[in-house]
Amino acid sequence: MANKQTEMCFLCGKTKSEVNQLLKGKFGYVCDSCIHEAYEVLNFEEEEEVSDSMRSVTPSQIKEYLDLYVIGQDEAKKTLSVAVYNHYKRLRQDKKSDIEIQKSNILMIGSTGSGKTYLAQSLAKFLGVPFVIADATSLTEAGYVGEDVENILLTLLQNADYNNKLAEKGIVYIDEIDKIARKGENMSITRDVSGEGVQQSLLKIIEGSVVRVPLSGGRKHPQAECVDIDTSNILFICGGAFSGLEEIIEQRNNKGKSMGFGADIEKSSGQVFYLNDVQQKDLNSFGLMPELIGRLPVICTLNPLSIEDMVRILTEPKNAIIKQYQELFAMDGVSLEVTEEALNKIASKADERKIGARGLRSIIETFMKDIMFKVPDMSNAKKIVITSGVVNGTEEAAIYGKWNKKIA
Ligand code: ADP
Repeated sequence: MANKQTEMCFLCGKTKSEVNQLLKGKFGYVCDSCIHEAYEVLNFEEEEEVSDSMRSVTPSQIKEYLDLYVIGQDEAKKTLSVAVYNHYKRLRQDKKSDIEIQKSNILMIGSTGSGKTYLAQSLAKFLGVPFVIADATSLTEAGYVGEDVENILLTLLQNADYNNKLAEKGIVYIDEIDKIARKGENMSITRDVSGEGVQQSLLKIIEGSVVRVPLSGGRKHPQAECVDIDTSNILFICGGAFSGLEEIIEQRNNKGKSMGFGADIEKSSGQVFYLNDVQQKDLNSFGLMPELIGRLPVICTLNPLSIEDMVRILTEPKNAIIKQYQELFAMDGVSLEVTEEALNKIASKADERKIGARGLRSIIETFMKDIMFKVPDMSNAKKIVITSGVVNGTEEAAIYGKWNKKIA
């Protein structure tokens, strides 16, 4: 029983005069430093969880998971799997070792809709770590209108339910990193005041430092409540299409070579995929600061998706778009069949739009809308067949009832 004489912490035995605060519970007292210690222990366990769950996972297992969702991009998947494997190994490294393993932040280069964001997202899902997607073009250097880089960390913290230990092990994906290249060398800059300033502010969080993040978001107010986030273990993945980079690489390759026979063959064959050969100096010529390039030591390139790839994307992944529609119709007792020609037609339409797999869903939505509108009222409908004519808008989808009898 606690009485005036025994006002002391039941865990460490310190009395009121020896501690800052003594909190009274139902069965006794506990001091602030014991509460703090208990909190640390619990947090530590949570912190260990992520790296522990990674302990038994090998790069090939990471890739196997990515294969379930992402079509093609084998080299990129391998590079990512190894980078992530090493990243979590680094987190488990013996603190006493004097060999400092550099963080394997990643730069992904590949055309729009080729799966950059999707790969990063799938990785985060596999690892069960908090994830955030940020757009480099919405960021700005301090003092200009736009978002502060700290807001990226705030969103990451929110996605980690405000557990900063968890957020500090998360993954940040920064899209359109090519759009903040230095002006002058890259003509596609239209919006930013100074790409270099934004690169500078990004560098600050990417290189690993303790960043003060205002919890209220937006501009920093002197009185805003802040939380410190240590970014040294956050994995940063930057992505961009880098259009024009191939020419830079091509120029470098041809420099010194006489523009004779060999060079012509290489050019006209159309088979040379220069991006695979990207070097840090090419990125520098493109307009990225050497310091930023240096902080993104792992570079992986994604291939533009072919029509065949897009057909596979429609049908193969675990949550393929066609499988999703089939699931929706199955709930009405209707099966959905999409012919081979129709799949090819959808893929070639997406290819024409030059936005990779991003265009697939909206192309399907366009012709599927009417069908999804009327089929729930057709209680006798059993099967829908989508042909290339339906995709083209020149034919209506055929709907079949019992005994495979066409009813519409
Ligand atoms: P980006 O390269 O522009 O970041 P995204 O990753 O955002 O492209 O791709 C847009 C969508 O297209 C994804 O959400 C995904 O559904 C689909 N997608 C793109 N590439 C692939 C791929 N290689 N495999 C499977 N789906 C893909």
